[in-house]
Amino acid sequence: MLDLKRQYRVLHQELLDALGRVLETQEFILGEHVAAFERAAAEQLGVAHALGCSSGTDALWLALAAAEIVPGQAVVTTPFSFFASVSSVLRAGATPVLADIDPVTFNLSPRAVDAVLNGSRGTYVRAILPVHLYGQCADWDCFAELGRKRGLILIEDAAQAWGAAWKGKKAGGLGDVAAFSFYPTKNLSAAGDAGMVTTNSAELAERVKMLRQHGMRRRYHHDELGWNTRMDGFQGAVLQVKLKYIEAWNEARRTLAARYHALFAKDGLAEAGPYPQQGVVLPREVEGARHIWHQYVIRVSRRDALREFLTARGIGSEIYYPVPLHLQEALKGLGYKEGDFPEAERAAREVLALPIFPELREDEQETVVGAIAEFLS
Ligand SMILES: *Cc1c(COP(=O)(O)O)cnc(C)c1O
Repeated sequence: MLDLKRQYRVLHQELLDALGRVLETQEFILGEHVAAFERAAAEQLGVAHALGCSSGTDALWLALAAAEIVPGQAVVTTPFSFFASVSSVLRAGATPVLADIDPVTFNLSPRAVDAVLNGSRGTYVRAILPVHLYGQCADWDCFAELGRKRGLILIEDAAQAWGAAWKGKKAGGLGDVAAFSFYPTKNLSAAGDAGMVTTNSAELAERVKMLRQHGMRRRYHHDELGWNTRMDGFQGAVLQVKLKYIEAWNEARRTLAARYHALFAKDGLAEAGPYPQQGVVLPREVEGARHIWHQYVIRVSRRDALREFLTARGIGSEIYYPVPLHLQEALKGLGYKEGDFPEAERAAREVLALPIFPELREDEQETVVGAIAEFLS
């Protein structure tokens, strides 16, 4: 599914040198290596401020806390994402309000959000938190318009979308504030946990800096209740190295996605969708989006049987995500039930992520598609 050792084989000397420089300077927490990564990251994304922290989950919390999302307020987000998209809202003390997804992109549906805003749960909504799932931006024309019309804050969960863009503008600079993750399986990855908040607002950036260090602006003077969520020097150094390659890696992912498309089409397996019949519904790059294919996710009706078939042949695959967030035990208190988000529930039964990472070989892709063709025949 993902072989990180292939990337390490190419980068190992460069990474060891970078880690050596951290040891030479003994700058282990924030410090010059993190600051240099922050500057390079901001420049690459075209945003004014980029601030390192200890994980994508903390980046989401920092974004919410910096935007002063407080108890009594609500945030609209998607039930079809990683847990942190919703749990971070609860950690900020606010209430998550969910809206269903678009069956083609699997991203939060602007139409569903609009309906929720007009309903009883919409009253205390202060922000919208779309996730750029699988590496494709949520429909930002619609969300920008919704935000403007309703006076809402827009927060991007860009954890899976380093380098993705909407109409030429990169994820991380679309909303008021954004959160990235550098968890080792993400397309831009650290050697451990790390995350980042980006924003064009000097005021929000200043609040993030304060909140990631126990609410301190001046040493040992605590203006607000913050937390300890800082990026390590080692992670800053590793990420600085990888930042130079990420554009080429994203291009490689785009090539791999195009090849999967062609292989499925050649075998006559591709169906129009959005729902699968006998074959495979392929993922789509929609107009306006630059997809970076963090994941290549197909839809099939006998998903679990197919996954078992692939596993038996030593072919990796993964389900992102098998249980929608409104049906998670930990989130029962939100008061949702089965049937509330039919698109998310259906997607959870039908999606299957296939191996995609820059070093994946053509013959490996042929093996994957060949096995799926065999299963479906
Ligand atoms: C990975 C991920 C996160 C959390 O990031 P961590 O670095 O693992 O804390 C949040 N949201 C989404 C959509 C993710 O994929």
